[in-house]
Amino acid sequence: MGVDPNRASIARVYDAALGGKDNYEIDREVLARVAKVAPEVNDLAWSNRKFLIRACRFLAMRAGIKQFLDCGSGLPTAENTHQVVQRIDPDCRVVYVDNDPVVISHGQALLVENDRTHFADADIFTPSEVLGNEVVREHIDFTEPLALLQVGTLHHYTADNGAELMAEYVDALPSGSYVAIAHFFNPGTDELAHLAERMEDIFIHSPMGSGRFRTADEIRAFFPGLELVPPNPEKPGDLELCDLWWPEGPRPRPLNQVEQCIVGAVGRKP
Ligand code: SAM
Repeated sequence: MGVDPNRASIARVYDAALGGKDNYEIDREVLARVAKVAPEVNDLAWSNRKFLIRACRFLAMRAGIKQFLDCGSGLPTAENTHQVVQRIDPDCRVVYVDNDPVVISHGQALLVENDRTHFADADIFTPSEVLGNEVVREHIDFTEPLALLQVGTLHHYTADNGAELMAEYVDALPSGSYVAIAHFFNPGTDELAHLAERMEDIFIHSPMGSGRFRTADEIRAFFPGLELVPPNPEKPGDLELCDLWWPEGPRPRPLNQVEQCIVGAVGRKP
């Protein structure tokens, strides 16, 4: 499948928000539209990406996970999953899954980087396609604990049966496995709910066509039967704003409104 110049791509819009170079005018146009109501829109991407890095570090270092199934890998940027986890343990195996043509061509380049990083072309919203994929079956051992990452992906699944979709993935994971999710969030408080609804409306009606801001309960439903890891020493296991999930240190400034519209969590299968 080639690149449609009239359609923004999720991967390229995200790349543009992170300040990357692999994006087109139509992708930047999506962000410009959202920026009219949320000038700090790029922080949605940054909060998501920084959560991914800290969650991967936790999974490789504290949870001892050695294999990672990264659904919706995105375009390579600084600190990709394999770089984060293989720095902790060079034997960690990573399989990236994506179906964007530009991501796939970059994914091939990752293949040459090392023999523990692989790329699968599959639809992450059809779990049977991912779980049955040849590359996934070859490099992920489903009898050993693994981490399934859906970071910055499920808000692009606009249908209402996301919980069933995730249940299909979780069923395939052995006990001791983890699921990490970051997701656009509607906090439900007046001002922020209004902002989340406006951003959702613009994303969905933009040339990108997706971006749901779900409620806390809707996002918790994406962790069926999993025990959520405490997001910091003071709180019980639950969702947390991405920037507050095991932060690296004191915040240089208060969270802005956009940063309060994205949450993350890590769940463990008992
Ligand atoms: N997970 C990365 C991160 O957190 O930095 C990248 C997130 S990016 C916002 C979402 C990625 O999901 C994009 O690369 C996009 O191509 C991919 N994606 C979206 N829908 C997909 C689908 N149905 N199947 C496979 N990949 C998909």
